[in-house]
Amino acid sequence: MKEAPATAPPPADATTASGATNGSAHANGAAKIANGEGPSKGHERCTFHHDLELDHRPPVREAMLPDMAAAYGQLLAALGENPQRPGLLKTPERAAKAMLFFTKGYDQSLEEVLNDAIFDEEHDEMVVVKDIEMFSMCEHHLVPFYGKVSIGYLPRNKILGLSKLARIVEIYSRRLQVQERLTKQIAVAVTKAVQPAGVAVVVEGVHMCMVMRGVQKVNSKTVTSAMLGVFRDDPKTREEFLNLVHSK
Ligand SMILES: [Zn+2]
Repeated sequence: MKEAPATAPPPADATTASGATNGSAHANGAAKIANGEGPSKGHERCTFHHDLELDHRPPVREAMLPDMAAAYGQLLAALGENPQRPGLLKTPERAAKAMLFFTKGYDQSLEEVLNDAIFDEEHDEMVVVKDIEMFSMCEHHLVPFYGKVSIGYLPRNKILGLSKLARIVEIYSRRLQVQERLTKQIAVAVTKAVQPAGVAVVVEGVHMCMVMRGVQKVNSKTVTSAMLGVFRDDPKTREEFLNLVHSK
């Protein structure tokens, strides 16, 4: 599928159509329009249209597709496969698009994702969002790891829109990663966003590089955590968080 040139005017229903198919993306696009950038530019940095169909996409990374597809073609040949056989003809292009999707977090910045969803609030009790779905790519083997992320923070006059915690997980998981770094990056991002008294992040991941190679049992999970501020310094706060995370 070809994307229209960046200079072409958007179809009249572009905003409506994208909003209908992707609600969370729409808010982002609408904000750009409100900033006076106009609807056509609204899509340029609207990273949540970054789906497998690859329309409405920022132009920058899409330009990488031909090189990526060529590389996948070489990989097929190196495997001893015939890249010209019917089943594989379109595989390099499909694989390149899929990889672009799996790594779309490179296009997203914390500032963009937060998008002013930070609120002044006296609330000083722990906020916990648990079992956020996470899909990432192991940077050592280029195979997926996936699992759940639980995030807690103790606000200090500022809170974050709840859905933004899941968005933060997306920014850092949709990249080539190791679970330990992913865990820390999420904690640091929440700290940057609302300067809380502390942040706790627990990530449970299943790594296909271990499961498929039989290094460990199929059901083994890797658990990593990052504790900052009061979650590091105060055992009771940490325990409260862990109890909340482990409760059914
Ligand atoms: Zn791996």
